[in-house]
Amino acid sequence: MSLSFTTLRTAFKAYWIIILGISMLLIIVAAGVLVSTSSDNETLTSQSANYDEDVVVLTSQDDDKEEAAQDSSSQEVVEEEPTSQTTPAPEPSTSGMLSVLTLVNKRIAISPLSYSPSNLTSPDVTKRSGAVIDARAAQSLEEMFAAAKDDGHSLMLSNAFRSYTTQQTLYNNYVARDGQAAADTYSARPGHSEHQTGLAADIIVPSGTCSLEACFGDLPEGKWLAENSYKYGFIIRYTKTNKAEAGYTYEPWHIRYIGVSDATAYHESNASSLESYLGKPAAPDYL
Ligand SMILES: [Zn+2]
Repeated sequence: MSLSFTTLRTAFKAYWIIILGISMLLIIVAAGVLVSTSSDNETLTSQSANYDEDVVVLTSQDDDKEEAAQDSSSQEVVEEEPTSQTTPAPEPSTSGMLSVLTLVNKRIAISPLSYSPSNLTSPDVTKRSGAVIDARAAQSLEEMFAAAKDDGHSLMLSNAFRSYTTQQTLYNNYVARDGQAAADTYSARPGHSEHQTGLAADIIVPSGTCSLEACFGDLPEGKWLAENSYKYGFIIRYTKTNKAEAGYTYEPWHIRYIGVSDATAYHESNASSLESYLGKPAAPDYL
C-alpha cells in the first residue's frame, strides 16, 4: 500500500516535470519564431530600401528608366510581401521629385501636370521677392553668384520655380497681347515650362539693363554666365542656334540646372541642346 503510494507520488512528480519541460520547449520555440519573423521584416525593409536607392540612381539617368524601375520594383514588392508596400521610403525628401535631368519642352509636358517640387527653397542670393528654387540647385546657384561677384559681376535672380497656374496666367496674358503664334516662340504653354521643374532660373542684373532681353547676352554679366555657369551645374538652355531643337528664341538669361558632372560633360561635348545631349527628339513645336 505504502509502496504504491510512493510510486504514485513519484509518478505525479514526473508528470509535473514533463509538463514543465513541454512548457519550456514551447517558450523556446515561440521565441525562435519571433526572432525569425523580425529578421524577415528587417530583410524586407532593407530590400525595399535598396529598390528605392536604385530608383534614385536611375532617375538621374533617364526618365523612362525611372518609370520602368518604379513599375518593376512595386511589382516585385507586391509578389514578395504585400504589407511591405506600407514601408515608409527611407529618403522622403526626394520621393516624388523629378530627376535633375528631366526634359520638359514643347513635345514633353511635365508629369504630373500638377508637379511642384517638395523642397523649394529661397536661395541666399540677390533676388526678386518670392523667388524659390529646387533645393538641389540652390547651393550651386549661391556659389555661382559668389564666384561672379569675385570676378566683379553682380547677378540677380529674377525667378526660378513657377507653378502650373502661374504659367497659365503668364501664357494667357502673352497670347492676349501678341497672339498665340508669337507667344509660342518665347513663352511655354502651361505644363511645358522648365520653370515648373524648379530647376530653371532667369538671371538679370540689379540695374535691370536688358532684363529678360537678348542683349543680356552682350553684357559682361551675360558673357560671364555663358562661360562659367556649367561649373556650377547650369547650362544656357536656349541659345542663338538651337531653336530647331529646344523650341525657343535666344534666352541668354535662362539657365537650367542639370548637376555639375552633366553640365561639365554638356559643355565639353559642345552639345547643341539638352534634347541632343540626352539623345531625345528635337522639340521645335507643339504636336
Ligand atoms: Zn526662364
